Amino acid sequence: MTDIKSMYFDELSASLKAFGLPAFRAKQVWQWLQQKGVSSFAEMTNLSKSLRDSLEKEYIIKSCEVEKKSVSALDGTVKYLFRLFDGEFIESVLMKYKYGYSLCVSTQVGCRMNCAFCATGVGGFIRNLSAAEILGQIHAAQNDMNIKVSHIVLMGMGEPMDNYDNVIRFLRLVNNDDGLNIGMRNISLSTCGIIPGIKKLQEENMQLTLSVSLHAPNDEIRSRLMPVNKKYKVDELLNACKVYADSTSRRISYEYAMFGGVNDSDECARELAAKLKGTLAHINLIPANDVTESGLRSSTPERIQRFCEILEQAGRNVTVRRSLGGDIDASCGQLRSKHIKA
Ligand code: SAH
Repeated sequence: MTDIKSMYFDELSASLKAFGLPAFRAKQVWQWLQQKGVSSFAEMTNLSKSLRDSLEKEYIIKSCEVEKKSVSALDGTVKYLFRLFDGEFIESVLMKYKYGYSLCVSTQVGCRMNCAFCATGVGGFIRNLSAAEILGQIHAAQNDMNIKVSHIVLMGMGEPMDNYDNVIRFLRLVNNDDGLNIGMRNISLSTCGIIPGIKKLQEENMQLTLSVSLHAPNDEIRSRLMPVNKKYKVDELLNACKVYADSTSRRISYEYAMFGGVNDSDECARELAAKLKGTLAHINLIPANDVTESGLRSSTPERIQRFCEILEQAGRNVTVRRSLGGDIDASCGQLRSKHIKA
């Protein structure tokens, strides 16, 4: 069955035309799918019952059903566990900021990257999400909370560059004027550093923010934390990032999770400052979250402060990330679906 919510409007109208439907019907179906985010044809009340029944036989609306929801008592952050059409589970996190609601979405069920500190990699890789399933996380959160999501971060489970085509399709759909219409400038895509993906994204010329999970200034430390570094080395990665920033005029955000005694020395800070000199960069220091399997622990607040000062004194643009949802395991790298497939 055809995954109808992953279709662009022209694909949808061509498909429905072959099905015998006029253009204005395609527009109605599109609006139900993209704007309202319905999960069944039965909800499309301006279509006749017989039409709804025949669409139901031809197409599948891949949506996200709320399996479980946890709300943080500290800051109201909501963590969702969503069930997919095939019984797989993914997680998303909804955060409230002064400027609106931001949703952290997953791009894959599991992940192939196996970073030492991340909970997602522990369960291995299951499958890619389709564009509809990435979109579906936004629809489900909006419909559940009766709110509008204004910002999206692709920082949930999975590596976006390892599911490139579906992620690009999702970005175009979510940005569509007749869809959710979320501006590219309100979207951040985070990668562990897959260089061919960064180069391809540069060609798309999208105004989104590229985040790169750097976490170490050199190969020796980074390869211990992130297996992907064995293939794509730090200097090569930073070079691709510089080219990206120059070509798009968009500042890159470098994520740097701080692990005590591993990547948090003064020397690491100086090396990082030197390597990011002369490029459009923002460094985001993240107090690491404990993932029990790894044995890694967060740096102390004093160490993070000192690291931050060294970068500032060198003239780099740096902030320390505030952690949300600490009481519901919603923080960075703690997403893991503990649910067994039904
Ligand atoms: N695969 C993408 C996006 C998902 S991870 C990427 O690697 O960027 C989102 C962010 O959380 C990444 O920066 C990741 O390195 C970070 N992260 C993972 N585990 C973490 C942990 N235990 N503590 C702090 N940050 C973590």
